[in-house]
Amino acid sequence: MRVAEWASLLLGGLSFGGSIGGYSGLLPGELGLGLSLGGAAGLGGMVALGSARPDLQIFGPSVQRGRVPGRLVLSIDDGPHPVSTPLFLQALAEAGVRATFFVLVDRALACPDLLWAMLAGGHEIGLHGLTHSARITWKNPQDGANELRRALRLLSQYGTPPVRWYRPPFGAVSPRMYQALQIVGLEMVWCSVRTGDGVAIPVERLRRRAEGAGDRDIVLLHDGTGPAPKLLPSLLQGWAARGLQVGTVSEGLGVLP
Ligand SMILES: [Zn+2]
Repeated sequence: MRVAEWASLLLGGLSFGGSIGGYSGLLPGELGLGLSLGGAAGLGGMVALGSARPDLQIFGPSVQRGRVPGRLVLSIDDGPHPVSTPLFLQALAEAGVRATFFVLVDRALACPDLLWAMLAGGHEIGLHGLTHSARITWKNPQDGANELRRALRLLSQYGTPPVRWYRPPFGAVSPRMYQALQIVGLEMVWCSVRTGDGVAIPVERLRRRAEGAGDRDIVLLHDGTGPAPKLLPSLLQGWAARGLQVGTVSEGLGVLP
C-alpha cells in the first residue's frame, strides 16, 4: 500500500466523526450521535475501528464501478422518504430506467407504501441499514450479523426479494463490519461518483458532478430534502443523450438481481 493511501486512511479515520456530523445535517436526530462518536473515539481509535474510505478496500472488497460497457449505475441512499422518493420514482418511470435504492429499514417500515412503490417500479433494493448508524463497525461480528439479519428479515416480510448489496451509512467500514457482512452473505457496494448531495451543495455543483459521470460509473444520490430529485429528470436526459444506459447495481455488474 502506498504511503498516500495510508495517509488517506488516517485522514479518513480522523474525519469519520466529522463526516457523520456533516451528513447528519439532514437528520437532526443523528447530529448528537455523530458528535459523540467523534468525541468518544478519539484520534487514534477511529483508525483502529475503521475508516470512512471503502474505496481503499483496506478491510475488504467493495464494488466501486460497473462492469458492463455503456452502463451507468444509479444508486439512491437513505430512503424511502415521503417527499423525494415519489419524485425519484416518477423521473425513473418517465425515463424507463431502474435504479438501486439502498434503503433504511426503519424508514421503510414508517412508509411501506413507498417501499412497495420502489418494488412495483421494478427497482432493486439494497440494504443501507436497520437505521442510519455506523454502530455495526464496532459491534462484534455476530451481533452485527444479527442486526443485518433482522434488517433483511423485515425487508423480506414487507415483500422485498432477497437482498445482495449493502452500502454502509457514512461510508464507514471496519474489519468487524466485513465479518458481519460475510456471515449474512451481503456484498459491499460503494460508488465512483459521490455527488455530495447528502450535504448542502449548490445545485449547479451537484449537476456538474453528476453530469460528469460516464461509462461504468456508480453514481450516488440521496433520498431526503436535497436537490437531487428535482435534478434527476435532466440528468437522465443528459446521460441518455450520451448513449449511457442507466440501471441498477446488478444490471451494471451484469449479474442476475
Ligand atoms: Zn446514508
